[in-house]
Amino acid sequence: MKMLASMAALSAALVVSPAVAQQETTPPATNANAFLDKAEKAMFDQSLVQNHADWINATYINDDSDALAAYFGAIRTRMTVDYALEAAKFADAPGLSAETKRRLLMLRTALTLPAPTTPGAADELNSLATSLQSAYGKGKGTLRGQPINGSDIEAAMGTSRNPDELKEMWVSWHDNVGAPMRQDYTELVSIANAGAKELGFADTGAMWRSKYDMPADDFAKLTDRIWAEVKPLYNDLHCYTRTKLNEKYGNPVQPDNGPIRADLLGNMWAQEWGNIYDIVAPKGIGDLGYDIGDLLTARGYDPIKMVKAGEGFYSSLGFKPLPQTFWDRSQIVKPRDRDVVCHASAWDLDNKDDIRIKMCTKVNSDDFVTIHHELGHNYYQRAYQNHPYLYLDGANDGFHEAIGDFVALSITPDYLVKIGLLDATKVPGADKDMGLLLRQAMDKVAFLPFGLLIDKWRWGVFDGTIAPDHYEQAWNDLRRQYQGIVPPVSRDETAFDPGAKFHIPGNTPYTRYFLARVLQFQFYEAACRQAGWKGPLHRCSFYGNKAVGQKLNTMLEMGASKPWPDALQAFTGQRDISGKALLAYFAPLQKWLQEQNKGKSCGW
Ligand SMILES: [Zn+2]
Repeated sequence: MKMLASMAALSAALVVSPAVAQQETTPPATNANAFLDKAEKAMFDQSLVQNHADWINATYINDDSDALAAYFGAIRTRMTVDYALEAAKFADAPGLSAETKRRLLMLRTALTLPAPTTPGAADELNSLATSLQSAYGKGKGTLRGQPINGSDIEAAMGTSRNPDELKEMWVSWHDNVGAPMRQDYTELVSIANAGAKELGFADTGAMWRSKYDMPADDFAKLTDRIWAEVKPLYNDLHCYTRTKLNEKYGNPVQPDNGPIRADLLGNMWAQEWGNIYDIVAPKGIGDLGYDIGDLLTARGYDPIKMVKAGEGFYSSLGFKPLPQTFWDRSQIVKPRDRDVVCHASAWDLDNKDDIRIKMCTKVNSDDFVTIHHELGHNYYQRAYQNHPYLYLDGANDGFHEAIGDFVALSITPDYLVKIGLLDATKVPGADKDMGLLLRQAMDKVAFLPFGLLIDKWRWGVFDGTIAPDHYEQAWNDLRRQYQGIVPPVSRDETAFDPGAKFHIPGNTPYTRYFLARVLQFQFYEAACRQAGWKGPLHRCSFYGNKAVGQKLNTMLEMGASKPWPDALQAFTGQRDISGKALLAYFAPLQKWLQEQNKGKSCGW
């Protein structure tokens, strides 16, 4: 469910040699706006052809589309590097307005991995980044002694209930994929830090944290504050899940106290636990009584009709229908005769109205949810289309994902009745609420500490508080401290377990996912409040409420033109990202979990 927009492409790991020579003097502030206007126009124009090349490459993979996408990608990278360096020279010019400073900062932080201008450094960084990513892509673990690739092992971690197999898969994946990356990753960190310093940042992590309309350290404190709010709920879920795992596997595999064994949670990284819902589901109330996939099939839905239903949700809020080109140009089903990237994404090809989705839609519940999510990206893109290039983005990188997820939260039984999918008499009663909420929490609440610690580790690595000879220990310490999990076997510094998670070798900042998990509930609660909803929050549907749609649109159409607290306020009335709405949503579940946990010594 990644989104691909013009700006998102900029944040990929891009590194090449800058084409302009360093200027020795600080240019006058009066030139800054002229520079920004020029840069925006050039980047806008370039993005148009780039987007078409990328679209072809994703929907028709062959040597030619690879070559075209690489050609335009290299041009974009050079452009981004040049503008970042030029923007850095303006940073201290006297007399800059707040908005000009903000636009300059956007250019300075557009690269995820900046290379220094030292001869050869850019090539070196580029080759390290490429080899790390390709090592991950080719990575294999083993199952019963046989090699198994990344996507298959990921699926098997979700379905296997054999602790020996789980351990084998976990250990082989981390040893084979992570460990060999250590040296390359260490070098990559040092080169990227030198690049970040040239752009005026203390280190690469500080540069990443500078994208949030506040000083880098304040942003780190904000994430700690949010975590402190939601941690008690996580602890309750951890305690309950540990009990259920203990009941299933027994003390030798999972004791009923201390941390949870990382490979037992249905996911290679223990980041989402929904795959083991069958182990934790409460008897009798765990089953909802319907499956969206079955309902879709029974009503004769095909993928197009599913997307029409998604569009219908947004239309009911007052958003204008998708353009005809959406239907003509989107890839909604997998083409039969060529290779494509099936991973769902939402696109805006012309930064105007040429919005599309790319999916290999199947008629099932997951894809029905994904459609609502992806369309959220498209409606966001269309809403902010009238801004200059740098503002064609979400208010911060957590917002874009949160919009789609917040709308997907609205696929409640009540909504399914309103669109004629579910019979009104089949709406599950309040007695099923705990099952509904627990299933959600196993993914959304379980994810929170993981979403936070990935960059906690990386921020420490970049600022040097985590030294290379402690990479593994620091990783395991954070996993234990935040998630309350431990590896199934002991680890030492010959391992490099962070490398076994895609976003580390892939160099994708991760805090956005933590923010999105929290923000989506904040949006949802605001919408339900505006709709006058009186019942339990998780049952609320604001389908058909045009006032909510209008208010939502005021936030969406701001794009990245204002600091994110302004955008958040426009829709929710609040200026702070907070976990309170998430806690309100799960309040009945938390109460229930605490009853189940009575007499247990929770924590780890
Ligand atoms: Zn998405």
